[in-house]
Amino acid sequence: MKIICIGRNYADHAKELNNPVPKNPMIFMKPDTAILRKRRPFYYPEFSKNIHYEAEVVLKICKNGKHVEEKFAHKYYNEISLGLDMTARDVQSEQKAKGHPWEIAKAFDSSAVIGEFLPMEGYDAKNIGFHLTKNGETVQTGNTNDLIFSFDYLIAYISKYFKLHIGDLIYTGTPAGVGPVAIGDRLEGFLGDQHLLSCEIR
Ligand code: MG
Repeated sequence: MKIICIGRNYADHAKELNNPVPKNPMIFMKPDTAILRKRRPFYYPEFSKNIHYEAEVVLKICKNGKHVEEKFAHKYYNEISLGLDMTARDVQSEQKAKGHPWEIAKAFDSSAVIGEFLPMEGYDAKNIGFHLTKNGETVQTGNTNDLIFSFDYLIAYISKYFKLHIGDLIYTGTPAGVGPVAIGDRLEGFLGDQHLLSCEIR
């Protein structure tokens, strides 16, 4: 399986990092070794001094597809969760300055924290609220009605370049409020009022 991530898909987050709002979805990937599931702890890696959380709605692909048309895209995902796109912001800044790829800042082991999945039924893809707390305090809130590129648009766009396989995950981007974690912090993620994710930083 592969993990496809979208950067800068909420205008308020693009602004907070002084990035332009993109004209097309900005895509990067993580390998399957990045997955951190089942409420396991996240171990702070030695190569960074500025690890950030980015809370994101995650879609699970349920049908293989290439060149999927946007009007059929909703048939290609049937489960949804909340995930964290863990980012070594200091390493990312160095890579960006050099014009180098992001992988060592974004795709390292355990950088794709994933919560429990729920069936997509019952959710309106264009109106899903979510939030993240750190040590009990809300640090990020978002709603998919603020997405620059909708789920269906993303599926169509991504599948032009990459064949989608059953089980692939799509991290759909983070809203404003990203920030650092420290050893001892606990992150909890919610989709609506459903508690789907818990992660302790060690
Ligand atoms: Mg992200």
